[in-house]
Amino acid sequence: MANLSEDEKLKRNMERIAHKILVLSGKGGVGKSTVAVNLAIALALEGMRVGLLDVDFHGPSVPTLLHLEGRRPEVTENGMLPITIEGGMKVMSLGFLLQRPDDAVIWRGPLKIGAIKQLLGDVEWGDLDYLVIDFPPGTGDEPLTVAQTIPEADGAVVVTTPQDVSTIDVSKSVTFCRQLNIPVLGVVENMSGLVCPHCSKVIDLFKQGGGEAMAKRMDVPFLGRIPLDPEIVEASDAGRPFIYHHQNTEAAAAFRRIVESL
Ligand code: ADP
Repeated sequence: MANLSEDEKLKRNMERIAHKILVLSGKGGVGKSTVAVNLAIALALEGMRVGLLDVDFHGPSVPTLLHLEGRRPEVTENGMLPITIEGGMKVMSLGFLLQRPDDAVIWRGPLKIGAIKQLLGDVEWGDLDYLVIDFPPGTGDEPLTVAQTIPEADGAVVVTTPQDVSTIDVSKSVTFCRQLNIPVLGVVENMSGLVCPHCSKVIDLFKQGGGEAMAKRMDVPFLGRIPLDPEIVEASDAGRPFIYHHQNTEAAAAFRRIVESL
């Protein structure tokens, strides 16, 4: 592989991956990375060979979510090896290549394109059933470049929260996918209702159903709701994949249902 061009390497590597799922959001902070990580793990728990690729230039959060901060991928003569975590899932993040987590925010376009191509072309995933790709937020140059670099994605999962301002961003993401001929697999409404830890009643902190209504209006599937769960924050901050350690929660069940419908 050493003598192949970047584009040839990228094609070779991507051919060994059966399904590529993009995880998008119209804006930051809606839980896109959390959803990407937990969907990837839910697939791995089903016995799939899964890779998770984090190309969010705005402070890649996958290393933190999986407690892999400061790790560097092993480099072989053929490329970089992703880091394998418990359960066998393979992980690669832009964050592994940066000195500081927010270094890439100031990169200019060509440098970002180079980094994306390198992440897609140089990483030795081996044979995978699924590659879940945590995208940069929004619909600007960065997600556009990533989308154009990944050949033949199966489709995109669009993450939103239930409030109106967030769901308006969903329609931008759906339009973005349509313009690039990327199928929209569906919308996930995250932080949808808070399960009270005392009485187990659901409190609709940000209302509910906004994501579903928007999915209907945009004529794309609605994949389901993930409740706001304080355990998700704690697990994320501690770098313990939520779904591994809290399999009996409503949120974990919601992630499993979404994976089944992909
Ligand atoms: P994004 O990738 O969209 O910027 P993150 O996945 O980094 O968002 O999530 C932002 C914050 O929200 C994190 O602290 C994460 O733990 C928290 N979070 C995400 N989803 C949930 C949820 N369903 N319940 C509780 N906290 C959540």
